[in-house]
Amino acid sequence: MTSNEIINNDPTTKSLTNPKFIFVTGGVVSSLGKGITAASLAAILEARGLKVTMTKMDPYINVDPGTMSPFQHGEVFVTEDGAETDLDLGYYERFLRHSKMSKTNNFTSGRIYQTVLNKERRGDYLGGTVQVIPHITDEIKHRIRASGQGYDIAIIEIGGTVGDIESLPFMEAVRQMKVELGHRNAMLMHLTLVPYISSAGETKTKPTQHSVKELRSIGLQPDILICRSEHPISEDNRRKIALFTNVEERAVVMCQDAQSIYQIPRTLYEQDLDDIICERFGLDVPEADLSDWDNVVDALLNADGEITVAIVGKYVELPDAYKSINEALLHAGIIYRKHINIDYVDAEALGDYSDEAVVERLSHVDAILVPGGFGERGTIGKMKAITYARTQQVPYLGICLGMQLAVIEYARNVLKLEANSSEFDRKTAEPIIGLITEWLDEKGELQIRSDDSDLGGTMRLGAQQAELVEDSKLRKIYGASTITERHRHRYEMNNRYIEPLESAGMKISGYSAKQHLVESVEIPEHPWFVAVQFHPEFTSAPRGGHPLFASFIKAAITQQEKQG
Ligand code: GLN
Repeated sequence: MTSNEIINNDPTTKSLTNPKFIFVTGGVVSSLGKGITAASLAAILEARGLKVTMTKMDPYINVDPGTMSPFQHGEVFVTEDGAETDLDLGYYERFLRHSKMSKTNNFTSGRIYQTVLNKERRGDYLGGTVQVIPHITDEIKHRIRASGQGYDIAIIEIGGTVGDIESLPFMEAVRQMKVELGHRNAMLMHLTLVPYISSAGETKTKPTQHSVKELRSIGLQPDILICRSEHPISEDNRRKIALFTNVEERAVVMCQDAQSIYQIPRTLYEQDLDDIICERFGLDVPEADLSDWDNVVDALLNADGEITVAIVGKYVELPDAYKSINEALLHAGIIYRKHINIDYVDAEALGDYSDEAVVERLSHVDAILVPGGFGERGTIGKMKAITYARTQQVPYLGICLGMQLAVIEYARNVLKLEANSSEFDRKTAEPIIGLITEWLDEKGELQIRSDDSDLGGTMRLGAQQAELVEDSKLRKIYGASTITERHRHRYEMNNRYIEPLESAGMKISGYSAKQHLVESVEIPEHPWFVAVQFHPEFTSAPRGGHPLFASFIKAAITQQEKQG
């Protein structure tokens, strides 16, 4: 009898009313790809028919990442329900097909302290001394439990590296929960680095031993070790790691650097990571079928040609700032089996280029994308790239600020208006982009059908419906008249300018369902010029892609063929 059968005969293990928790920590160094590894594991478990959710706990004090600079922390990922979250949640959604992330799936130390302090001010603690243990840890445990509600498996990733002072309350909460939930309901998976010292020609296991020792010193024994390495790790070293860390030998899982992150589910599966977990939790579930992941990897690694897309943005030194866009382009490449080469163009530098220099800088690209952004810096350069795309018939995709700037560029260069966004010039004579509270007509009345005019000054965040105009390119691309996409912006196109813009050849292709705000524009005379106020990148996935990015890449392929 295999251990699997023994477990499956136990009737008490069959009910999945309470979620099983897998906690994920990292050791030795940061940037080991904890989020990607955790998400890959989630993908395999989902492929076994389990309902899986994931949560990221961030040890920093900011209440949420909404106001953090993309330079420091990478992109802010926006969930369907409008939470501004860590970019790891983007990975979670890209790897999972059946679960969407929400407000409950990401919280920071700052958020925990804020909640506890608010309770303290309200007198909820009845004059008691408020302490890290139990008050902070209880709040963490409460949130962990809430995030797992309704799922078979909840994977909880702890940001930072073991040994950080900041993450200690999270680690302590995990320690308590492991005891409370018991062996059959909770596991700890620890990611570690196994470096190769080339001068000695040796793989070193000592950092892993030390990071597990660090974990043990706070009462945590890992059940699974994921060993990240550049080179293969020998069986001898695997045994050594198991022996020194007190982890079962088969639960010491190798994860060598891969060409694509979408190979990781198979890498983990080949080493039976999912079996180890299902056996321990007593889950009687079918085998995983990873053929859809194999197809993704096959298309990525055996691409037939390359497409170059320029991303003209402010944060080009840190590609993580545009993580979801990079991935969405890659996903579109998978559909057409094209390798996507992203050329990051520094918008600020481009602003100082002459028209000829702009042409020279961009003439080799097959398509141009201007992503979202905040603030005036870099907008001149972005508009120069838009002028180039528009006049040279190069496919253009504008996202959020990329749409607002496409509208301003058109108004300036075609309508000859001194148009601007009030984000950049509060007193502009032609506020073609502004806060909706600013669009007053001559009588001082608001120019929109508004059912909540308090939007001005606050963000339009999360998934909202848009209605696409008949005969628009966008409606053809989506193959639907109503779509739902995520938003993250304050400013809107001013409806007063719809008529002049449309008369001059820029069409509005979509309006928000609720307020009749402009959601998208396009230029029918141009081979492919589409700009949207929402963020399609947040809903693109490797298995299936996203229609807008797919159409954009298809246009880029046509452009490449045209140029021969
Ligand atoms: N800064 C613009 C606004 O707030 C665009 C935001 C964005 O691109 N996400 O409306």
